[in-house]
Amino acid sequence: EPLLEIKQLKKYYDVKTGWFQPKEQVKAVDDVSFTVYKGETFGLVGESGCGKSTTGRAILKLQELTSGEIWFQGENIADHSYEKMRKLRRKMQMVFQDPYASLNPKKTILQILTEPLRVHGLYSPEERVQKAIEILEIVGLSEYHLHSYPHEFSGGQRQRIGIAKAVILQPELIIADEPVSALDVSIQSQVINLLLQLQRDFHLTYLFISHDLSVVRHITDRVGVMYLGKLVELAQTEELFANP
Ligand code: ADP
Ligand code: ADP
Repeated sequence: EPLLEIKQLKKYYDVKTGWFQPKEQVKAVDDVSFTVYKGETFGLVGESGCGKSTTGRAILKLQELTSGEIWFQGENIADHSYEKMRKLRRKMQMVFQDPYASLNPKKTILQILTEPLRVHGLYSPEERVQKAIEILEIVGLSEYHLHSYPHEFSGGQRQRIGIAKAVILQPELIIADEPVSALDVSIQSQVINLLLQLQRDFHLTYLFISHDLSVVRHITDRVGVMYLGKLVELAQTEELFANP
């Protein structure tokens, strides 16, 4: 069953390369189509600059797209207003490479984790605190950390909190953009295992963006390969890695 269908997605940027140069068009995402099925981990791979992040951000409408359709649960959300997208964020969450991008440095972990619940009008204040404690434990931290600030944690712990913030809403889809690329290799597998465990426990679907094929090979079911803004290959992960 399809959860997300991307059709002919395009995102062009107008960039100025120099003061006297005319604007140039960068085709960051150029006619990309793919489907992500419920419960799977779909990997979007390719070298740096090929358009993976732009695709992920466009799906969440964190940036405007040039054209294309984004079907999510039977609805084309490509032209959704900001307000409609805010509501949809309950179902589509993002995990970033640098958790600082989604963790407000001035807020405690308790505030960071309860805020999405509050914004979406879920639970009573007491229940929200309880949910925050539960999710912290699930990601391997404890109640003891509730009143700390993001900078007090290691990179791996911070990513666990970033993941907790995304998962606390029990979304359908998580778009993870290089979620382990900034971490030590020894920590990477721990975070990957956490993502796999959460997928089982919360029935999550992942769009997993990464340039690191060893990570992709481990976590994804299917893979789309991007090159210069185009999707150039679509395969089962096993198939893609079968041939030398
Ligand atoms: P990837 O995630 O695969 O590394 P990106 O989606 O970040 O690729 O970038 C795709 C292309 O779009 C690159 O050529 C990049 O330089 C360009 N690009 C990305 N973001 C912007 C932006 N905000 N303004 C102009 N060009 C951008
Ligand atoms: P603050 O706590 O500073 O208000 P927010 O949590 O509201 O920061 O995040 C700032 C922006 O990033 C918002 O537009 C928000 O929708 C977006 N954002 C933050 N975290 C996520 C996430 N996990 N998934 C999707 N969008 C996010």
